[in-house]
Order: sequence, then structure tokens, then C-alpha cells
Amino acid sequence: MTFKRREAAIADAAQALKVSRKTVALTGAGVSTESGIPDFRSANGLWSRFDPIEYGTLGAFRRNPQKVWEMLGELLELVNALPNDGHIALADLEEMGLLNAVITQNIDGLHQQAGSRNVVEFHGSLARFVCLQCRSGVSLEEVLEGELPPSCRHCRQILKPDIVFFDEQISLDVFRKTEKILDDVDLLLVIGTSCQVVPAALIPQTVKRAGGRIIEINLEPALGGLADISIVGSFSEIMRLLIAKVSDID
Ligand SMILES: [Zn+2]
Repeated sequence: MTFKRREAAIADAAQALKVSRKTVALTGAGVSTESGIPDFRSANGLWSRFDPIEYGTLGAFRRNPQKVWEMLGELLELVNALPNDGHIALADLEEMGLLNAVITQNIDGLHQQAGSRNVVEFHGSLARFVCLQCRSGVSLEEVLEGELPPSCRHCRQILKPDIVFFDEQISLDVFRKTEKILDDVDLLLVIGTSCQVVPAALIPQTVKRAGGRIIEINLEPALGGLADISIVGSFSEIMRLLIAKVSDID
């Protein structure tokens, strides 16, 4: 994409944001790479080093939670990451009344840390840990204060982070929230995700079918003809340019 074409696409996107009555962002791994969190699916990512079936399923956790915690221990290092300018720009858009909600596939909590308030964590989060036996939960802070792996204070079972493993369903509660958020959406920003993991990957089609428009912001475009506006570039850079453009429009 030439510089000029990108400029034009950003101007179109800013205009679309201004006129939209309800805008939602769908984000994926690409928004967190600039915060130093490598895409779990990339060549050096988590799932190239830990077999997803042996380390990323509820079945594996039930069989041998200690072993799955070898992977989870590494995942916990994510909590040291900081939001980047892109996360902050999305929070600013919400503050300006131009963004209704963020639906994220990330479990790192960086949108909330940046100040976004209406966030649906489609694949759960590392902020909470639960006991599979008695369902009691503890916070990330409590887990970080104790020894790993953490265990339930009532029944001594090893705790599972409240993230969605590969063989788990998205919770009904999350589905309901997502449905409500997507109701009457005029504009969907698809950012840093190649939309390969269902059911989150179906969101752009759902919005499109209901008459909404799609803006894609990705390093490598993935939506093809589904996107009305496609902007190629890094999350933080494009969001900085976009917010500047939006602020220019009265
Ligand atoms: Zn318990």
C-alpha cells in the first residue's frame, strides 16, 4: 500500500468513526505484539514450544495440572507487559464517545490497563484463577504472592486460570454479552487479528450481514473483500494517526 493510499484510508476510517452511531473493536494477538507479547501461534510463540494438546486443553489440565503449569508459569510473565499507544488510543476513543466496546481474544488484560472500560474477554483472562472442584476463585495478585502452582485453600486442588482452553466452550455469559454488544453495530474495527479462530472469527461476517461496515487494521490484511476499509500497518502507529485524524474533524 502506498503512503498516499494509506493516508486516504485513514481519513476514510476517521470519517466512518465520526458518523457511526455504534462502533466496536475486535482485537487479537497483533495488538499485543508491540507490548512485547509474541503471538502464541507464531514461529517462536508459546504453541510452538508447548504442544497445544498436551498443555492447552482442559483434558490435559485434569490429567496433570502440574505439567500444564509449566506452560502457565511462562504465560504469567505476560502480566509484566504494558499497554502500547494503540491500546491507549482505543481507550481514548471510548472516552471520546466514539467506541462502544472492545471484544478481545487476548488474555493479557492490556485493554483494561490502558483504560478501556467496556471490554469482553472472549477467551477469558489471567486476572482470575478457579478451582475446578469447588469453583472458588482467587485473583492474579493472590496467585503471584504465593508459590506456583497455586492451589485451592479449601480442597487443595491446583487452580486453573480463567482462560478458555482449546477444548473448552466460550461461556454462555460471554456469548450473551458479545451478542448484546454487536446488536445494531454500525462499524466494526478488526485489529491485529487474522480472524482464524472460530467463533470470534465469525464476528466480522455477522456484523457485515447485519449491514455494518468493517475497518481492518492489520500488518497483513486478512479479511479480503469483507473489509470496507483496509489499513496496513502496525497497531500503535495506525491508531496514533487515526486518533489525530479523528480529532481534526469537527
Ligand atoms: Zn477448591
